[in-house]
Amino acid sequence: MMRFDIMTLFPDLVSYVLGESIIGRAQRSGHIAVNAYNIRDYSKDKHHRVDDSPYGGGMGMLMMAPPIYDCYTAILEQSEPEARRRVIYMSPRGRVLNQEKAKELAQYDQLIILCGHYEGVDARIIEEIVDEEISIGDFVLTGGEIPACILTDAVARLVDGVLSDPLCYENESLSAGLVEYPQYTRPAVFRGRAVPEVLISGHHANIEKWRAAAALAETERLRPDLLKKDN
Ligand code: SAM
Repeated sequence: MMRFDIMTLFPDLVSYVLGESIIGRAQRSGHIAVNAYNIRDYSKDKHHRVDDSPYGGGMGMLMMAPPIYDCYTAILEQSEPEARRRVIYMSPRGRVLNQEKAKELAQYDQLIILCGHYEGVDARIIEEIVDEEISIGDFVLTGGEIPACILTDAVARLVDGVLSDPLCYENESLSAGLVEYPQYTRPAVFRGRAVPEVLISGHHANIEKWRAAAALAETERLRPDLLKKDN
């Protein structure tokens, strides 16, 4: 069972998003566990403050290090000491998430994920506990909760037993450096557009050949960057 521990100021948001559909089912069947912790619960301030203005001046508020650290140590106390774990800070400064990174992270037993908010977090908490900063794209969001859900979803679906058949992700977009070939289901004709004949021929070798060529053509059309050698 792989464990995801998410440190956030908005645990309900994370639990709701990850409680539905395939990821929700995977939790109920015990293939993964997703725990969301409210960093505010670890604030020692009598008003449960978790943020303050940055030293040196500047816009906005920063999340303070101590409540995050206390939340982190509480998670560690409830974790397997020998677990292979990685601590990730969702951050627009990080390397952008891709399928290869999701596969790499699916090899761990536990991911502890820190969601920032406001202007982010005190740099010392990153130095103290974080192994890696991961971004979900070159744009800035208001908080790390949606990125944490995206990371958890991308990794969790690669955990054994979460999808009904591993072929689901072996043949899909990006698994072989290409996007997926076009797929069709009933009806055979939709608004005058017929399904490619080869797909209803029942000739498996020809279908595979067609799919390989179509995946290449779709990659050239939609993601030519994937075909460049140095990628
Ligand atoms: N001041 C920070 C900076 O310039 O790097 C941005 C802070 S952002 C408004 C608030 C939080 O949202 C971040 O701490 C991070 O957790 C999350 N976040 C925003 N954009 C993100 C992205 N592209 N990927 C991952 N997390 C992101």
